[in-house]
Amino acid sequence: VSGTLLSPELAAAAERVAAIAAAHADEVDRDARFPHEAAAALKAERLMGAAAPRSVGGLELGIAQIAEICQTLGRACASTGMAYAMHQIQVACLAHHGLGAPALRRYLAEMCDRQLLIASVTSEVGTGGDLRSSKCALEAEGDRFRFVKHSTTLSYGEQADDYLVTVRRDADAAPSDQVLVLVRRADAIVEKKGEWDTLGMRGTCSPPFSFTGTGPIGHVFADAFGDIAARTMVPYTHVLWAGAWVGLASDAVARASRFVRQAARKTPGSAPPGAMRLAEVASMLQAMRASVAYVTHEADRLIRAGDAGRDRLTSIGFALALNNLKTSCSRQMVEIVWHALGICGMAGYRNTGPFALGRHLRDAHSGALQVSNDRILLTNASMLLVHKDTPGL
Ligand SMILES: Cc1cc2nc3c(=O)[nH]c(=O)nc-3n(C[C@H](O)[C@H](O)[C@H](O)COP(=O)(O)OP(=O)(O)OC[C@H]3O[C@@H](n4cnc5c(N)ncnc54)[C@H](O)[C@@H]3O)c2cc1C
Repeated sequence: VSGTLLSPELAAAAERVAAIAAAHADEVDRDARFPHEAAAALKAERLMGAAAPRSVGGLELGIAQIAEICQTLGRACASTGMAYAMHQIQVACLAHHGLGAPALRRYLAEMCDRQLLIASVTSEVGTGGDLRSSKCALEAEGDRFRFVKHSTTLSYGEQADDYLVTVRRDADAAPSDQVLVLVRRADAIVEKKGEWDTLGMRGTCSPPFSFTGTGPIGHVFADAFGDIAARTMVPYTHVLWAGAWVGLASDAVARASRFVRQAARKTPGSAPPGAMRLAEVASMLQAMRASVAYVTHEADRLIRAGDAGRDRLTSIGFALALNNLKTSCSRQMVEIVWHALGICGMAGYRNTGPFALGRHLRDAHSGALQVSNDRILLTNASMLLVHKDTPGL
């Protein structure tokens, strides 16, 4: 996420979308409404198929390049960066696990052509944030399936064109015996069951929904969801979320930096009071960026290596590294924004003006909850009991 991985054309396209997202970010946050201007711009710039291969009309970008787009968007509007990250995670699952299935391949080509937006329905009432557990189950009806899922938190559930959903394989399957299914909008009944009036990430529009899905059996992924999660969903999730979060933290530091420079101009010859704290927060941002770049680079290398990288990609050591990235970045982001607020003082505390940081601080607090850090740390704790190498990459 160093800002150097995209072609000049793609980097410029992402910046154009970011400018639109930034112009609407405060209103999106205030009204807890979907950033539809930024979503339209992403489609107009043809960025929706970033993780899809060229053979189906995608951009065939690597995970590190997509993380860079998430960062650019996250700097402008964290909700937009997060929504784009969530969409690309779904595209990556289709690209890595669906190309061998004619119906999923056709869908991916249509998705790229029409620049469709895909939402993710993993969380469920009764399972909380445990990705690897489902209560709802597929029921086969001839050559079609049907299920009902009560989702606790479904981002842009009303705005999405289509959905990828985790369900148990059938009514007799264990909670972890899950499959991933594509549900087209026309095959879904999506009933909103609550409001999305939250502290932050208000533009992701993620209330609970009752979700009834049907579709042809060809929309069920052949790979077990456990494999899809380990090989694609978890690596893409933690790397792309981290990309969006680096963007959020970077914008907070940029605001603090402009504040200090403005103060410095008023008192030529002496460093303003916030200058030392700016130096401190700049080093915190560098540490966050370094940790993201390190894991992102390794994920990129392993995914590009295909079969040769698979053992390492799905190893306990790398799972720990990915989880550590999520838990540490979500904490670092809050600390960085809090430091930036200390530098800007009242100008940061106000909800208006060029140094306002309330939105950043509220958005930043979502990171530790978006799949609870406690849950992830407990998973890590049990993995560390059996992991023989020194923890870390
Ligand atoms: C902005 C945002 C957008 C989201 N978008 C989507 C989306 O599009 N699709 C989707 O499916 N989900 C989405 N989610 C939901 C997310 O993926 C998790 O499912 C959700 O954050 C889980 O939180 P929870 O509080 O319901 O459950 P839990 O993770 O169960 O956490 C509740 C609390 O209980 C504790 N806890 C409970 N169980 C355990 C355990 N086993 N181990 C340790 N601690 C535990 C934790 O301390 C935690 O604080 C989104 C969440 C956010 C914040």
